[in-house]
This record gives sequence, structure tokens and C-alpha cells, in this order.
Amino acid sequence: MSDPLKTPISITRTETPHARPADNALSFGKVFTDHMFIMNYNADKGWHDPRVVPYGKLSLDPATSVLHYGQAIFDGLKAFRGADGKIRLFRAQRHAERLNKSCAALCIPTLDVDLVRRSFEAIVGVDNEWVPSAPGTSLYVRPTIIATDVALGVHPATNYIYFVICSPVGAYYKEGVKPVRILASDKYVRAVKGGLGEAKTAANYAASLSGQQEAEDKGYTQVLWLDGVERKYIDEVGTMNIWMLIGDEVVTPPLEGTILDGVTRNSVMTLLNDWGYTVSERRITIDEVMQAGHDGTLREMWGTGTAAVVSPVGELGYKDDKVFIGNGGTGALTQRLYDHITGIQYGREADTHGWTSVV
Ligand code: PMP
Repeated sequence: MSDPLKTPISITRTETPHARPADNALSFGKVFTDHMFIMNYNADKGWHDPRVVPYGKLSLDPATSVLHYGQAIFDGLKAFRGADGKIRLFRAQRHAERLNKSCAALCIPTLDVDLVRRSFEAIVGVDNEWVPSAPGTSLYVRPTIIATDVALGVHPATNYIYFVICSPVGAYYKEGVKPVRILASDKYVRAVKGGLGEAKTAANYAASLSGQQEAEDKGYTQVLWLDGVERKYIDEVGTMNIWMLIGDEVVTPPLEGTILDGVTRNSVMTLLNDWGYTVSERRITIDEVMQAGHDGTLREMWGTGTAAVVSPVGELGYKDDKVFIGNGGTGALTQRLYDHITGIQYGREADTHGWTSVV
């Protein structure tokens, strides 16, 4: 097998570049850049042939295993164009490491983390002109692995494709950070211990659709997932980790196998520790949160994730009950976290933890 560290990444540029949409016309994940990164795996060669090629369709046999049994993982990170014109990837190393953890959970052969990081840099470097520059915009980077055995038996595949595609995305908050309404589901569950909850795999997102749909039908933005066994403890919200400021304690659910180890979660945890907050990673019941909402000690609640960075929660519904948090505005701590992390991402704030890498 070749040493991935020494493997050069070949680059084939497109001869038909596309027009880029205006920054103010961007939404999320609908437009893709001119190139993609690809690498293959087979039993003989391991991961091999890393290359940047023109963006294009994959041709798959209808019997390809991923289409049937979902042996697929992905991750999601962003590159930002700073006011200084430099392009920064946010926490590329940690995203590469998490990709490998997801691989392990799905019996997919792991990759060299350094090569994964280089794959992000290579594709963003080639498509650097696609990184938008309007405030709040970014280039979303989506590494993905799919099982490509052509066989209907249920077992880990022996052939895979790793690819990275990129999409310029618009500002998540076009008119400033805005609180959302979330609904705790006592009907649907997303993950259980011993399952796939901590992996970024297609199945988790399939499992989330009905609950999310129901929350939307009831006028909420996101579903707050409760644990899959007792339906009592809070897990995470939509595609974000969840946080609460109750009195002077910041609470977030622990990493016990059912939730994703969010990169933004880790960044927020680090900053809160830097700032002297008491952060409890502990199990917390929906009843405790509703009670804190009613007695006024639930001061702030927010979700964290790559898409929004932080998303304040203004209303929490559960069964026939609901509580309002923060008088319709964004809490001071939530806003401080948002400002600080986006400051680092766009190069306005000192990156004391070495989270960004200039491409
Ligand atoms: N939980 C789930 C289920 C997610 O899909 C995401 C988004 N990746 C998160 C949490 C937040 O993770 P991150 O901060 O790494 O984006």
C-alpha cells in the first residue's frame, strides 16, 4: 500500500468553468463549485489515487451497496474569506478526525487524517474563487464516503469512494442572530446508546425526518431530541448540539454515544472555560428544563453547529406546555459566543487556539 503522506494529489482543471452566483443570491447547498476531490478504496490498494477533477456525476450500478444499506458517512466544515482576503478553514483537523470516527462506526476503512486535511485544502485551493466574500457567507465543504460494492449481501463493503464537494452558502442570519422555536418530541427518537448517534452517517438523518416534519407542521423550526430509551433526557436539537444557561450553570448533554461530538460544541466548551464559566456536561431532563423555564432560571438556551455557529432558542414546546426564553431576543452569552467564533472564522479575532488554517 502506498504511504498516503507521500501520495501527491493530482489536479485536473475543468475546461468549462461555471458562472458563480452573486453572494446575495446564495442559499444552502444548492450550487456547487467547479471541481471535486475523489479517492478510491479497494482491498488491494487501500485508499489510492487522490485527485481533484472537474465536478461531475458519479456512475453507480443500481446494485451498489450504499444505495440499499446506507453504508455512508460524511462531515461538514466551512472555509471563510476574511476581510484581509485570506481564506481560512475552521478546525479542519478536528473535522478530519471526526470523519475517521464515523468511518470506524460504519466499518469503513479509516483514512490518513493528514491526507483528509490535505484533501480539504486542495479542493478549496483549486476552487478558491468560489469562496464568497459578503458578510456571513462561506464555502461549505462536504467530505463523503460511500460503499460501492455491487452486491446485495448485507456486510461491510470492500470498495469505497471518498469525495469532497463544495458549495458556496449564503449568510445564515441575514438580519442578525434570531431566536428559533423548538419542539421536544416524545414520539420520535433519533438514536440510542450502542447505535449510530455519534456518527455522521446517512441513517441518522433519515431517522430524523419524521420528527422534524412533525415539528414543522406544528409551527416549530427544529425538533429537540430526547433520549431513545426513557424519552426523558435531552440529547440534541435538529442538527445542532444543545446548551442551556440555568442560573449560573451552563449545561450541555454529555457525549455518551447518542449525540454528535460537535466541533462547534467543542469550540464553545473551550471558550466558556477560557471565560471562567462553570460548564456541566451532564444529563438533563426535559422536565428540569421546562421547570427552569417556568420559574425563570432558564436564562438562555442555544444550539451549536457549523451551519449557524449558534442558534438562540426563544421558545421550547413539550407536550401541551411551552416556555419562552429571553423575551424574544438573543442572550448576552449566546451573542458573545457567536461574535467570538465568527470573529475567529473571518480573521477579526485572535485565533489563540489555532483553530483556523489559511488555504
Ligand atoms: N448534531 C448533529 C446531528 C449534526 O448533524 C451536527 C452538524 N454537523 C451537529 C450536532 C453539530 O456539529 P458541528 O458543530 O460539528 O457542526
